[in-house]
Amino acid sequence: MRLLIMGPQGVGKGTQAARLAEYFHIPAISTGDIFRYNLKNQTELGKQAQAFIDKGELVPDELTNSIVKDRLAMDDAKGGWILDGYPRNASQVEALDKMLEELDTPLDAVVALDADHDVLMKRMMKRAEIEGRADDTPEVIAKRLDVYTKETAPLLDTYETRGVLVEINGVGDIDEIHKNIVAELEK
Ligand code: AMP
Repeated sequence: MRLLIMGPQGVGKGTQAARLAEYFHIPAISTGDIFRYNLKNQTELGKQAQAFIDKGELVPDELTNSIVKDRLAMDDAKGGWILDGYPRNASQVEALDKMLEELDTPLDAVVALDADHDVLMKRMMKRAEIEGRADDTPEVIAKRLDVYTKETAPLLDTYETRGVLVEINGVGDIDEIHKNIVAELEK
C-alpha cells in the first residue's frame, strides 16, 4: 500500500498516519518529523531548514525532495509507505511522480482529511500547549494555514482528477475516522 495523507495542520494527519501504518504494516514517513529530528540534532539539513520552519514557510523543494527520495529508497519502504506532509506544492507532486516512476511503484490512494477552521485552530492551540513545538505560535500557525490554502489544498484537485482521492471527515472519534479511512481504501 502506497498512500499519501493530506489535510490542513491540526486535522489529525499524524495520528491517522500512525494508525494506517500499523494496520497495513508500512512505515509512516513524515517530512515534518524528519525535519524536527534534524533540527534537534543540529545536522546540516536541520541548519538549512531551520529558518523556514521557524517562519512556517515551506523548506525549499530541492532539500525536501531529496530527503523523501532517500527515505523511499530505504529497505523498510519497499513494501509500501504512507507519506504525511508531502507533497505540499505542485513542484513536489512532480518530483514525487518522477520518484515513483523510477521505482516503478504507483500511488494507491490519497487520503484527504478535512475539518473546519475553528476546529483546526482549537486543536492547534491545544497541541501548542501540550507539545511545546517552537513553530506552534499563533503567527506561525496562521502562516502555515495560509501556505496550506494557497499551495497545498489545490493539489487535492490534481489527485481527484487522477481518480485516487479519498475524502474523509476529520472531525469525530479517532477510531471511527480510522475505520472510515480503511473502509474507503478497501473499496
Ligand atoms: P509539519 O509537521 O508537517 O507541519 O511540518 C512542519 C514544518 O516542516 C512545515 O511548516 C515546513 O516548514 C516543513 N515541512 C514539512 N514538510 C514539508 C514539505 N513537504 N515541504 C516543505 N516544507 C515542509
